[in-house]
Amino acid sequence: MPPILFTNVTAILPDRLLPSAFVLCQKGRLTWVSQKPPKVTEDVEVIDGKGRYLSPGFVDIHVHGGDGHDFMDGSADAVRGACRAHARHGTTSIFPTTTTGSTNEIHAMLSASITVQRERALCNGARIEGVHLYGPFFAEDKVGCHSVEGRRSPTAREYLSYFETGIVRISTCAAELPGATEFYREARRRRCLITCGHSNASWPEMAAAFKNGMRHVDHFWCAMSNVSSVRTRLGVPMRGSMLEFVLGNSTMSTEVIADGGHLAPELLEFAYRMKGASRLCLVTDSNRALDLPPGRYRFGPRENGSWFRSDGKVGWAPNGSLASSIMGMDHMVRQMKRDTSATLPEVIRMASLTPAELTGISKRTGSIAVGKLADLLLLSRDLKVKRVFVAGQEWVEQ
Ligand SMILES: [Zn+2]
Ligand SMILES: [Zn+2]
Repeated sequence: MPPILFTNVTAILPDRLLPSAFVLCQKGRLTWVSQKPPKVTEDVEVIDGKGRYLSPGFVDIHVHGGDGHDFMDGSADAVRGACRAHARHGTTSIFPTTTTGSTNEIHAMLSASITVQRERALCNGARIEGVHLYGPFFAEDKVGCHSVEGRRSPTAREYLSYFETGIVRISTCAAELPGATEFYREARRRRCLITCGHSNASWPEMAAAFKNGMRHVDHFWCAMSNVSSVRTRLGVPMRGSMLEFVLGNSTMSTEVIADGGHLAPELLEFAYRMKGASRLCLVTDSNRALDLPPGRYRFGPRENGSWFRSDGKVGWAPNGSLASSIMGMDHMVRQMKRDTSATLPEVIRMASLTPAELTGISKRTGSIAVGKLADLLLLSRDLKVKRVFVAGQEWVEQ
């Protein structure tokens, strides 16, 4: 692997833009980031960025599939296909995300993800950093587009079998479910990012979960509680919900689906202003319809996942509610930039360093800094992905 020197680029650092930057990668890692040129050896490959942006590769902590594949299809081929689809959109670190489903389906997904992770093959596209155990521990009244038959409360026997595979790095459970406390404690022992999602939890339930290590809420405003949904469940006096808990606790982080179909600009701006770029992630929550024409598709396992319809912009459940996104991270970045007052370094941070920090991988990736893996994107001035580099090697679609 010859060294690569990027010249004539504006490097997007977490806190600022670095114009006319020189960025050197050697043996897959960044060894020089400066406006001064480094000393290089003769075998260096020079890439003239022609004034484009050099961005860190994106990190997606909530993603179900793409290009016809759902990670829950449970085959290594499906996992490879989805990881390639997301690399096309600038994601270089990915956390395949489970849906509700049977234990067998979830185990098949975990095994397939382990297989592909161990291949460490550039052609696979985005590198698997771990799995997000998302379904099946959802509240019955907040399953959203997931199949309700596939949801249940956590039992140690079930989740220990998932944790023991070693690949689970993010763990979701609705805080009000019986068994949630023990689940969170076990996930904390395993050093997972612990999140509450698809939940109708009240403030006191969130406070208890927080004590046990819960620190994040999945897709803010989607399939989560608000004051009126908690009132329907628990009566009066009206109580705080997940929303107030996340906004009122500076340690709590969350994520938004910035595809333009889920949340209006004022909500994206509000989330950014309330939580800031170091506590708000961009996620795709993309399903298998990414990069496919409008039509009917299954959400979750190919055989028995619930049906949804893609209109080419967003997914729709049969009951008229939203059914996750069909967009890649590059789209989320452009939308967030357009819809909010966040600066470009902040928007990119929300798609790279912030999710990397929350999942404990920021020592090796997530920003353009000496010592980290050279996970890099060349972006046009209108933020389209032009070239993708994973650990210092260019990924080109086969
Ligand atoms: Zn969801
Ligand atoms: Zn999702």
